[in-house]
Amino acid sequence: MEKFSERLNRMSFSQTFVMSNKVREMKSKGIDVISLTLGEPDFDVPKNIKEAAFDAINNNFSHYSPVPGFLDLREAICEKLSRDNNLSYQASQICVSNGAKQSILNVLASIIGKDDEVILPAPYWVSYVEMVKMVDGTPTFIETSIESNFKMTAAQLERAITPKTKAILYSSPCNPSGSFYTYEELETIANVVAKYPHITIISDEIYEYINYDGKHTSIAEFPQVYEQTAVINGMSKAFAMTGWRIGYSACPTWLATACEKIQGQMTSGANSMAQKASVTALKTPYSEYQYMIEEFRKRRELVYNLMKAIPGFNVNFPESAFYFFPDVSSYFGKNINGKLVEDADDFSMFLLDEAHVGTVGGVSFGNSNCIRFSYAASEEELKEAMQRIKTCLENATFS
Ligand code: PMP
Ligand code: GLU
Repeated sequence: MEKFSERLNRMSFSQTFVMSNKVREMKSKGIDVISLTLGEPDFDVPKNIKEAAFDAINNNFSHYSPVPGFLDLREAICEKLSRDNNLSYQASQICVSNGAKQSILNVLASIIGKDDEVILPAPYWVSYVEMVKMVDGTPTFIETSIESNFKMTAAQLERAITPKTKAILYSSPCNPSGSFYTYEELETIANVVAKYPHITIISDEIYEYINYDGKHTSIAEFPQVYEQTAVINGMSKAFAMTGWRIGYSACPTWLATACEKIQGQMTSGANSMAQKASVTALKTPYSEYQYMIEEFRKRRELVYNLMKAIPGFNVNFPESAFYFFPDVSSYFGKNINGKLVEDADDFSMFLLDEAHVGTVGGVSFGNSNCIRFSYAASEEELKEAMQRIKTCLENATFS
């Protein structure tokens, strides 16, 4: 007999993992599927980071670490935040966790409760909305579209704020849109939030280094909101360390202490060896890892040119992260090869079944017109995937 809590019933499975599991199942049946589902770099962890992990094992870093992380890692994070972001934090303001995912949940669980609203500019990363529900909060949304590069304006934000708003949560660079907010845009947003001191900005900057055209800005750089901001970052994307599970938050001291309290009752400190390896990663000049970004840059160009040629796809040229989020609504309301396509999720399933290309539909990202492609895949796979989709749609029957 199933006895789920009301909380669990409110939540959904993570659609990124649902789709990547579907691809895995199809592959296990011998079907040749190309997966552009999960957002994870396809590179190996750089050698010097791996060596640091071996050293940590050999030096017996096999015990519990302090709950918010080893001091040398927290100091390395402070150095990184000062060097790259011009932000000043003490080690006591950093909480290292099991991936940025846990850092976000730590912050939400620290400040959000029943009836509290969290503003999510849409499209948002799939887990934000479910995490807000997990802590009994209420997500509220700001709609954007491909025409505005999926970015909210300060005026939209101000209109969305209610007396119940406790936080605003967004990623810049953004998963799934690949857009990022410029210095000037963030300044206008900071000026709005500064008028509401009870609101916390949760600024997810995990794609910081995957930025092709501009300079990354953290909203915490604006002094008027520094005390209101929780900066989230981690090792998964920039260092291809997704499975090592190291993320972190940098917060005002009261919030950092709260994160430590939550984490200390849930998972304790993050993996000791991965923490030690992260010190090496953060202390190495990022130019040594830039080859991954240059590879993503080439793939972005490649996919953009191929995707533009697919009939019915309205696609922008994302400036950061490794996702495309084309608007495919021109296909809605039609039977394609006998399958009724009503929204982005139907279209994503259609592509999986008919073209054998795995994507993630936009509904769980808060946009039912778009589908997400991760281009963290090889050039051959990307070319083949775009060709399959084009051929499939060109030869499809519509009714
Ligand atoms: N934020 C965003 C926007 C993401 O895309 C992801 C996915 N990795 C995360 C946070 C979580 O990353 P991790 O838990 O692997 O550090
Ligand atoms: N963040 C990645 C994605 O959006 C990995 C999967 C996940 O954590 O949801 O695909």
